[in-house]
Amino acid sequence: MKRTRILFRYKALLEENSDRLVAAIVGEHGKVWEDAQGELARGIEVVEYACGASEFLKGEHSRDVGPEIDSWSEFPPLGVVAGITPFNFPAMVPMWMFPMALACGNTFVLKPSEKDPSTAMILAELLTAAGAPPGVFNVVNGDREAVDALLGDPRVKAVSFVGSTPIAEYIYARGTAQGKRVQALGGAKNHAVVMPDADLEVAVDALMGAAYGSCGERCMAISVVVAVGQEVADDLVRRLAPKVESLRIGNGVAKGWDMGPLVTAEHKQKVSGYIRLGVEEGALLVVDGRNNPAADGPGYFLGGTLFDHVTREMRIYREEIFGPVLAVLRVKTLAEAIEAVNAHEFGNGVCVFTRDGGVARVFSNAVQAGMVGVNVPLPVPVACQSFGGWKRSLFGDLYAYGPDAVRFYTRRKTITQRWQASGLEGMQFAFPSNG
Ligand code: NAD
Repeated sequence: MKRTRILFRYKALLEENSDRLVAAIVGEHGKVWEDAQGELARGIEVVEYACGASEFLKGEHSRDVGPEIDSWSEFPPLGVVAGITPFNFPAMVPMWMFPMALACGNTFVLKPSEKDPSTAMILAELLTAAGAPPGVFNVVNGDREAVDALLGDPRVKAVSFVGSTPIAEYIYARGTAQGKRVQALGGAKNHAVVMPDADLEVAVDALMGAAYGSCGERCMAISVVVAVGQEVADDLVRRLAPKVESLRIGNGVAKGWDMGPLVTAEHKQKVSGYIRLGVEEGALLVVDGRNNPAADGPGYFLGGTLFDHVTREMRIYREEIFGPVLAVLRVKTLAEAIEAVNAHEFGNGVCVFTRDGGVARVFSNAVQAGMVGVNVPLPVPVACQSFGGWKRSLFGDLYAYGPDAVRFYTRRKTITQRWQASGLEGMQFAFPSNG
């Protein structure tokens, strides 16, 4: 209850200080104001869920499992746990982790991204103001060196990581080799399958936000549209192109923009390099974000880019670009669309646009991805569910936040207890059973 009260106060302080937090996110990450507000709100939802700790830490009890024997499981904390987080959600992703870890009774060391570290400092300051005792929540800034120190320290019992797949794989291998519990969430290439019966107007608007929101710098961003049938593909591209060309791009400090800049000059170069590569690989460049007037000015702005006739062999299809670049893959059938989704290296989010419940059912049963949307382009689970992908989008067994976080940040201890009232039983050499 004491921890819950601190988290209650924390939620109130986060809301009171939301403009300050949003300004830090916008200033360092570059996403637009309303989008930063959205990420903060989703982080606060995890704090709200964590306030229910007394419910989810109650344990499991079985009475009379044998003669005068009761058995129960408790879920004590692990001790010191660490979180290593990416640049693209400087508030929300740390808040996927530490509210749940603390609610479960652990202390937490956060290593935020070196690209936008200030938000984490404000999150820590407010938690102290809410009453967290010294040493319970700690922020260590740095890059690889800080990460390696955490991985090598035997006092750190578990590591939650969110970032790119090569680093996720490294953290998982190194952390588990040291006997730590590790959940390492990696990269993505999220497909949106558009069926011929879908409401294309609705689908196109949904795709615009999912592909270009936050400049595509979201692990749940839609980066591939799988159009089922040539007619759907032609229609989609015809509707998407003018919308991509007219994205409102500007400094997110002022409200009303669709897209801000990319996070760094190097990242802008990387994304521009992929646009060049797509042309070399033979994809049809329908809208070239490099030609957007915003791309010529100061800052790391790049316009939205749309590729058509992308094929599964191309690197712009296989690799995560993490920028405002949408690829249209043309297939003939739903089966072919599902086959493409399942053959891809990543399996984070996926969605289908359809009006057919049967299609929705077949699709959600067959796709190999951790989070599935039906007419929902960004199926990011709410705080009482858990977030995670399949295949090379997650290394480990348990997802982030929600019920999985309770299991990740605690260790089951099962106690079997007998209070004998019926006198001596003598020696028993057979394995105890109720037979
Ligand atoms: P990143 O992998 O470069 O960095 C993530 C964290 O790892 C940072 O804290 C960074 O300092 C640290 N790091 C970087 N290089 C390291 C190294 N060599 N050794 C040890 N630590 C290192 O990722 P990023 O560019 O900050 O974030 C974007 C990536 O994160 C994308 O691939 C995106 O898909 C992914 N992401 C995934 C999810 C998810 O839930 N699956 C959510 C958000 C972002």
